[in-house]
This record gives sequence, C-alpha cells and structure tokens, in this order.
Amino acid sequence: DREEPNYFGAGPAQLPTNVLQQAAMDLINYNDVGLGIGEISHRSKDATEVINSSKEDLRKLLAVPETHEVFYMQGGGTTGFSSLATNLMTAYVGATGTTAPGGYLVTGSWSQKAEEEAARLRLSTEIIFDSRKFDANGKYGNIPEESQWSDKIKGKKYSYVYLCENETVHGVEFPSLPKCLQDRDDIEIVADLSSDILSRKVDISKYGVIMAGAQKNIGLAGLTLYIIKKSILENISKAETNDALLAKLNVPVTPIAFDYPIVVKNNSAYNTIPIFTLRIMDLVFQNLLKHGGVEHQQKENERKANILYTALDACPDFYNLPVDPKCRSKMNVVFTLKKEGLDELFLKEAAALKLTGLKGHRSVGGFRASIYNAVSVQSVEKLAKFATEFAKEHS
Ligand code: PMP
Repeated sequence: DREEPNYFGAGPAQLPTNVLQQAAMDLINYNDVGLGIGEISHRSKDATEVINSSKEDLRKLLAVPETHEVFYMQGGGTTGFSSLATNLMTAYVGATGTTAPGGYLVTGSWSQKAEEEAARLRLSTEIIFDSRKFDANGKYGNIPEESQWSDKIKGKKYSYVYLCENETVHGVEFPSLPKCLQDRDDIEIVADLSSDILSRKVDISKYGVIMAGAQKNIGLAGLTLYIIKKSILENISKAETNDALLAKLNVPVTPIAFDYPIVVKNNSAYNTIPIFTLRIMDLVFQNLLKHGGVEHQQKENERKANILYTALDACPDFYNLPVDPKCRSKMNVVFTLKKEGLDELFLKEAAALKLTGLKGHRSVGGFRASIYNAVSVQSVEKLAKFATEFAKEHS
C-alpha cells in the first residue's frame, strides 16, 4: 500500500493506486492459475482474453466505430513516429499508385521530432506550419488560427497530415481538430495522443490513425496503442503485394514487427506483446468505465486545469505562463517564475509538502505540472494553494 501521491511528473506518470494493487497481485498469481500474467505465453487463453478485453473496453470508452480497428505494439511514441510514416506512405501508394508528402503541423518538440523522423527515413514531408514562426519570440507556445494556414493545403495532396494533439513538453494542446483538415475527405488525419488520450472525448471517425504511448494516462512504458481506419490497413496490404512499385517509388519497407496489417492479423501478438503492461492498461480502462467514463474524466480534468491556471493567472507579476490561453494544455501546465533565483526554493518547498515531479523539461526550464487522469483534484488544489502562498511570500 502507499499514501496517495501528489506527483506531477510528465511521464512515466502516476497511476491509480487501486489499479496497481490489482496489478501487483496479477504479477504474482493471475486468476489463480499459479503463475503471474507476465510469465504465461502471449498466445495462451488468459493472455488472449486480456488483449480482447482491453480492446473491447477501449472501444466502449471512446465509442470506436466499426470502421476502425484497435491494436497494440511494443515501443512508445518514438516507434510510432517511424511506423506511422512508413505505413501511411505505403497506404497512400495502395490507394493511389503514387506518393505524396506527409504534411506536419509542428506545434512543439514532439511533432517536430515526428517530422524529422519521417524525413530521416527519406520519406517526403512538408511542414504545413511551424508555430514558432507565428510567435514573437520564435518559441513554441501557440497554434496559429486556421485562417493563417488553411490556404497552404488547398488543392494539395498529402499521404497523411500529422499532428500532436497535446505537446507534453511545451504544454500546447489543440482545443479541437482543425476543421480545414476534417473537411478534406481525401486527407487521413494522423494524431499523436500520447499525453492526452482518454482525457477528453474525441470523435474517432474523424481520424485515420490515433497513436498513443501508454506511460502517461493509460499505463506503463513499453506498449503503444493504435486506433486505425480499416481502409488504411487494406491499402497497406494492397501496396505490399506490389513490391516493385514500392521500390520504384522509394518507399521504405516497414520492419515486420511494425507492419500494421501483420500486427492486426495476429491480434497484436505477431511477436511477444508485453502482456503485464497491457493488463495494467486494461485495469486503467476498467477503472475509468467504473467511474463515469471519459465524460466524467473530462469534466474532472477541466476542473483541475481551471483550478491551477486560475491560481497562476492570479499572480501575473510573479508567474509567467508562456502558452497562449486558447491552446493551454489541460494535461501539462507549464510556467516559470518572473523573479530569478527562486526556482530551487520553489521545488524544495513544494517537496516539503510532498508535491513532487514539478521540474520543467530540460529544454524549456521552469516548471511543469502534469495533471493526467490519475492526479486527483485534491492534489491539484494543494499545488494551487502552495503556488498562491509561495507568490505571496516572495513577491
Ligand atoms: N509523443 C508525445 C506527445 C510524448 O509526450 C512523448 C514522450 N513523452 C513521445 C511522443 C515519445 O514517447 P516515447 O518516449 O515513448 O518514445
């Protein structure tokens, strides 16, 4: 057992204690079979049940339509950057017989890294916008209005358009999917939801692919979740029957463990799936289902973000919030102190109150409070109270 933590780390992140308690028992003796869930074959009946149950639970939570498939792969967000690029380009070849660039909306370091990886794999990419170009200081911290970039995509073809819905490092979150992308039936939207999946409702039918590493809102590192339109899987398989064409078009072959149709055909167990990690994910899903689903979680997340931003905004001479209020993340609250020399003291005094994990990303500095699903309203209230008192004392 443990005292309830007030942990604001960006990932790996806090998980519900009741989930971990159940998982700890499952690790030793699963369903009374006399072995732990991590010790049995990934093709056994018990493991297959974990895979199927987690898929069903996720489908319920996000109302995944029949047009879309759910699957899992080893790895994390970074493996997603590579596999999305090659699979989606292959799918485009299957659908059209030719290639087109992958379009990227760059709003922070994770979408930037995703674009760089696609380019590194020698795939054609186009940065539709880089939000730093729209910022007075040349930094990430906003998302330009659609009217400022929608003309760029008019009449253009893309194998897919990629965005990161929540930029974990910079604390920038798309309030909603850009309408100009939704309006284009010929564009597959590919989205990284690693740090905001299941934090709010999303309309799955609008997406070509959703990718999410597990270690923030849904589980431990090592496993990545995908929700993909079935027609994309069919297009990949179709293109893969014509290797000569893929070679002629210089489309890289996807490594076999990351080939989406192969993984799906094998119910996410083409190779050894980390089944204990998936069991934790499913326990998180079941926990959410028991507590009002995504709708309830979204309300709670809005409440938490509101408490914290309100407290910080109330001290404008003391705290600097670099992100445009229109796209402030509800998961990662980024802020700095206006006065120099107090950062260490802020962390020390917070830690004395058992408020931990607040140090900002090394590339940004300052502070970041990650308030994922498992972080309670009480934890956020404690942090807000501390921030208010710290400002009062040191102003
Ligand atoms: N995308 C986002 C939004 C992330 O926050 C992260 C990691 N924090 C990644 C991708 C990369 O994930 P991984 O470290 O699992 O490769």
